[in-house]
Amino acid sequence: MWTTHYDILIVGAGVAGSALAHALSTISRPKGKEPLRVCVLERSLAEPDRIVGELLQPGGLAALEELGLEECVEGIDAVPVQGYCVVLDGKPVHIPYPSERTGRSFHHGRFIQALRAKAKQARGVQVIEATVTDLIECPVTGRVLGVRATRKDTGAEDKEAFFADLTVVADGCFSNFRTAVMGAAGRKPETKSHFVGAVLNDVHLPIDKHGTVVLVKGSGPVLLYQIGTHDTRMLVDVKAPLPSDLKAHILENLVPQLPSALHIPIQKALESDRLRRMPNSFLPPTEQGGRHTKEGVLLLGDAWNMRHPLTGGGMMCAFNDVVIIRDLLTEVVDLSEWKEVSSLLHRWHWRRKALASTVNILSVALYDLFGADDDLLEVLRVGCFKYFELGGDCINGPVSLLSGITASPAVLFWHFFSVALYSIWAMFMHPHTEIDANGKPVTVVPTLDQYPYLVIKSIQILWTACIVFLPLMWTEVRWW
Ligand SMILES: Cc1cc2nc3c(=O)[nH]c(=O)nc-3n(C[C@H](O)[C@H](O)[C@H](O)COP(=O)(O)OP(=O)(O)OC[C@H]3O[C@@H](n4cnc5c(N)ncnc54)[C@H](O)[C@@H]3O)c2cc1C
Repeated sequence: MWTTHYDILIVGAGVAGSALAHALSTISRPKGKEPLRVCVLERSLAEPDRIVGELLQPGGLAALEELGLEECVEGIDAVPVQGYCVVLDGKPVHIPYPSERTGRSFHHGRFIQALRAKAKQARGVQVIEATVTDLIECPVTGRVLGVRATRKDTGAEDKEAFFADLTVVADGCFSNFRTAVMGAAGRKPETKSHFVGAVLNDVHLPIDKHGTVVLVKGSGPVLLYQIGTHDTRMLVDVKAPLPSDLKAHILENLVPQLPSALHIPIQKALESDRLRRMPNSFLPPTEQGGRHTKEGVLLLGDAWNMRHPLTGGGMMCAFNDVVIIRDLLTEVVDLSEWKEVSSLLHRWHWRRKALASTVNILSVALYDLFGADDDLLEVLRVGCFKYFELGGDCINGPVSLLSGITASPAVLFWHFFSVALYSIWAMFMHPHTEIDANGKPVTVVPTLDQYPYLVIKSIQILWTACIVFLPLMWTEVRWW
């Protein structure tokens, strides 16, 4: 039964698991001590073909460099990303990353294979193709001692036991072990919408080497970014209930609102490609290592904390988490001593807050605005676009938050409520289009007699902004 014993077991060799395996091999050990013995169990080592994790923000690239994994974006036809272009009603606004920082976009599978190659070469790390089916718990204390898994290469049906002082579960957004590990402290992921993905061939985006976000009426945003010399990813946000014919929905309702240069490539892609779909989930982080969570195990990556993928922050958070855990683990003397690990988990939880909270809150708040589905959110969406048009700190601030260059929920709070106030100002002062008595569109500025109505609407807009932002902030500051 006691077949194999390691220092650390990692379930899943995706973004977080592979990076952690490599990072553990770089931890300096006391003189005379062996390198950590790490086992990574991954259900399929074949190149994944998924529509996730294709744009790494500059902050994520910096974390990748800190982990000594920067080579993983070399030789995979990755594209440097210089910022964003947001389009509303056919009008673009240019949002470059500050200080000439860049991110990278790529085919997810190629990047994962590069990360896995690094993990396989790492000292003390063994990567095994096996599906983990259960956690092994001590019948007396309930502590997790390891996992049971079925190997792929042997073809054996039998489950094999793997034991370790510490088990790290990094099995992604559909984690099978989240509930078992978190116990009563666990929360359920909330699915905000779905992304439907296709790859377009040889298209020119409005601004080269910039992610494009098109704000469309009656639907969530459409994202486009180049993932290879000839390939551009299109992700279409679709809210529940999903249309029965997704292709028809995209062609009839969304394509007419996208830049005309994209119409034919999208049509071709929809004819030739299978549409893929992924849920866009939000799962706030709950502190691990407390009374309710299991001993001997921890969750990492999407298994523990998820944000809306609109802002492409998932991999950045995962790499940043690995950087922090690696540094904290250097101080742990005995991994089997849960008190030590538990204190590490406490420090990790709060040390990651600056970046992770900023990215988590921003992703959902921005999604609520960009996917506006009522009148008040629509005012905020237009106001947000106009805020970007002001330029200067009104674009540098938000894009630095989104890209992980600035990690500060306080700065995020400032920009979010600045957008809300500017939206109200714009509603009073800026011309907008109305339909006149003859059914023709005319441009008008609000008149004094409309002011009482607009004052009431302003209060409602501020309230809406609070309802969007403050509960998200709460999910990050609550400490139990
Ligand atoms: C539609 C969409 C688009 C996204 N786009 C971006 C983006 O552009 N940029 C970005 O930074 N983030 C993006 N994200 C988020 C990003 O993909 C995740 O945050 C990231 O992949 C999380 O890494 P992970 O290691 O936790 O999970 P994963 O990378 O999913 O890895 C989990 C691994 O565990 C393995 N596994 C699962 N179960 C088992 C088991 N029982 N036994 C053994 N192995 C198992 C899986 O095979 C997989 O290899 C996107 C998410 C979505 C939904």
